[in-house]
Amino acid sequence: MYNTHIRSIIAVSLFIWKCMQRSVYQGLFWAILVLISPLILRSEPKPRIKKAPKRIIFLIGDGMGLAQISGVMVNYGGQNAFERFPVIGLSKTASADNYVTDSGAGATVFAIGKKAKNGAIGVDSAEQAHPSLFEWAKKNAWGTGVVVSSSITHATPASFYAHVPSRKMEEEIANYLLQKNCDIAIGGGQKFFTERKDQRNLFAELTQLGYVCKQDTVLVQTDAPKFIHTLAANGLKTRQAGRGDVLLKGTQLAQTNLNKYYKKSFLMVEGSQIDWGGHDNDYAYMRAELLDFNEVVNAVLDWAMADKNTLVVVTADHETGGLTLLENKQDLGSFTPHFSTKGHTGIMVPVFAFGPGAEQFAGIYENTELFEKFAHLINRHGINKRIK
Ligand SMILES: [Zn+2]
Repeated sequence: MYNTHIRSIIAVSLFIWKCMQRSVYQGLFWAILVLISPLILRSEPKPRIKKAPKRIIFLIGDGMGLAQISGVMVNYGGQNAFERFPVIGLSKTASADNYVTDSGAGATVFAIGKKAKNGAIGVDSAEQAHPSLFEWAKKNAWGTGVVVSSSITHATPASFYAHVPSRKMEEEIANYLLQKNCDIAIGGGQKFFTERKDQRNLFAELTQLGYVCKQDTVLVQTDAPKFIHTLAANGLKTRQAGRGDVLLKGTQLAQTNLNKYYKKSFLMVEGSQIDWGGHDNDYAYMRAELLDFNEVVNAVLDWAMADKNTLVVVTADHETGGLTLLENKQDLGSFTPHFSTKGHTGIMVPVFAFGPGAEQFAGIYENTELFEKFAHLINRHGINKRIK
């Protein structure tokens, strides 16, 4: 890009030089060129945004690598959401202290743009808090929300609104919701609000702050600009155990309210348990969770295609299970899934993008770039200064 810049300047200069006869103007031309060339060369080529989104829906398939996506879609009768995206990228997933990230550091880097140590939430490698995309968004009256199949205080959603050194501090993470940077939260985790060591009832405190708080085992239709809806004491049921399409319905509920009450919004949706199936090396569990996530992505894409002002980005924080698809000698049209670890791996993960600003997400880049790209897009809609 930089070389292209220099080449263009030289070509244009020579052209003008040829056009000009030897005269005082030639001297003047060179003098001006010498004076302005540092300015031209210093101007970093910025990615061009054709149109900025009014709404961003960021979907994270926790533990969802390319093998998971490839395998699940074999012999799948439904629509493969991932094949519908026009822009594809690859994200490098290392954390600050480990080539193989955990979900705390993996989501923190998306939320604050800084590499963190494994286990950290919303803080950099020196445990310094930095404003998250949600905090930026709220300063400019954007609506924000999380919808997850884990607890709403789990590592991935927590990284968008909390700042603590350890993901295990789920009660402290819940306290951060009182700062009102997350307008809507749907998922599990009721016990971190009502069965706490400090005896506080955070739902009562959140209600005083204007939140509608719902605790139920089924999704209750809610019409409010701010609400917290827990559906389980901790994580939600697995899809195999009868969770149903609550991730899809929760996403639709959150998006309906964000659209109704805010001109702009940022919603993060996590397919949390794709990762848990990987940790268990349970292919059927992982597959059911990924197909559940696929349903959500399809619905979000349908909505964004009709809306035309919504950017949809799908990625993972890391791969889980070291899944490979081995030859199946009994059925050569199929494969044998094989996990190589109970933990995470350090392979790059795919990024899929659709909608205004999607072109920003092509290429191979560090996971910090996801934050930069979102921040850049939010910036165009009114965040002129970084929050100090
Ligand atoms: Zn994990």
